[in-house]
Amino acid sequence: MRKLKVIGLHNRVIQMAYIEVKENSEIIVPDNPTIGYIEGDGIGPDISKATISVINSALEFSYEGSRSIVWEKVFAGEEAFEKTGKHLPQESLDQIRKCVVAIKGPLTTPIGQGFRSLNVALRQYFDLYANVRPVKYFPGVPSPVKAPEKMNMVVFRENTEDVYAGIEWKHDSLEAAEVRNFLSSKLGVKLTDDTGIGLKPISRFRSSRLVRKAIQYAIKNNRRSVTLVHKGNIMKYTEGAFKDWGYEVASSEFSEETVTEEDYMKDPELYSGKIIVKDRIADNMFQQILTRTDDYDIIATTNLNGDYLSDAMAAQVGGLGLAPGGNMGDTHAIFEAVHGTAPKYAGLDVANPTSLMLSGVMMLRHLGWSEAADVTESAIMEAYSDQKVTQDLARVLNIKALKCSEFAEEVIKRMKSPKQ
Ligand code: NAP
Repeated sequence: MRKLKVIGLHNRVIQMAYIEVKENSEIIVPDNPTIGYIEGDGIGPDISKATISVINSALEFSYEGSRSIVWEKVFAGEEAFEKTGKHLPQESLDQIRKCVVAIKGPLTTPIGQGFRSLNVALRQYFDLYANVRPVKYFPGVPSPVKAPEKMNMVVFRENTEDVYAGIEWKHDSLEAAEVRNFLSSKLGVKLTDDTGIGLKPISRFRSSRLVRKAIQYAIKNNRRSVTLVHKGNIMKYTEGAFKDWGYEVASSEFSEETVTEEDYMKDPELYSGKIIVKDRIADNMFQQILTRTDDYDIIATTNLNGDYLSDAMAAQVGGLGLAPGGNMGDTHAIFEAVHGTAPKYAGLDVANPTSLMLSGVMMLRHLGWSEAADVTESAIMEAYSDQKVTQDLARVLNIKALKCSEFAEEVIKRMKSPKQ
């Protein structure tokens, strides 16, 4: 095995090792896994540096040297383009494939490439079909609602189909004309010549695996319910089918652990302790998250619903600057901040790194290193309750702003060993 030094861990010499994936998709994590990191464009380098220093410190506090991460830099985005002429070189994809788990800063969407965005390309390449977005409140963060602490949900958003599949044709293209002709001649659907066309594919396989992942998460984390959010009253064979396939997965694969809301209401005592599977129509769900926030827990939904809903939920607890995310498949996982590159703050050391730090917390939990995840999360929470904030929140609270790196220092200062 190769030996190397790791900066940030008191230059301790450690072995290089990679995460292994078992046939049943379980991961075997060595004590010193190599994790890929993409710094990202714009504010990416600032928030990545802050996040890595916080995670390294949490590992020291939690495991006193018996567990650590070997960070392997993966080039992507503008930095990769400068070096290789490509925004996402094959070598970077190979590195992530080998690392199994990676964390990334935001990437600028390049214009005129063969794909719509580097993020979409990464999700498609590794079949990261579940976009997982936990949303919960941190005391001290300014929020637009009266009781933000009631929010504690995790959204599982389908990542590979629905309107994000990108199957669409411009109104005046040959392809759109051909599709219109086909619809008219074969199916009797008449559309005017100025109509652009998009497809909304929703499949049984992809819906089922997303709902399966959401239920597995609910079981593993002792959550109370899984809500299937859909617009099936209007789009019966796509959104409606998503809901039906979701219930099918619950009853056929998790009959011991779950109960439908309908059955639960008939005899709550009989089914107490089981995870309640329910469904809500998307428009209703937007008011439910505001009016009956604590009735909801895990959300499983199609792509576009999940996109809108998770941003609305994040706004309820203080905005996107704090929202973490993970893109997960059956083998690989890439964790990332929900926000973008905020180019006007690039290189100024003023961005809020919390979203990426919390994505790091998700990553630590994914590795099974819950002690370090708890240490990091508690320290971030404490920093917020002590009103240690970067400029995005300082301007709302009308208090002094910390730099991105200073915020990381304040978080590290508040870390406590799990034994304390
Ligand atoms: P954005 O980068 O998220 O920034 C929009 C605004 O949000 C910023 O101007 C800033 O607001 C605030 N903001 C976002 N992150 C912040 C942080 N960490 N700390 C403090 N403030 C923060 O959205 P965008 O301007 O629409 O997108 C810019 C680029 O990012 C685009 O190329 C887009 O494609 C890309 N993008 C990448 C990802 C990703 O990699 N996952 C996601 C979204 C967008 P104020 O101006 O009010 O201070």
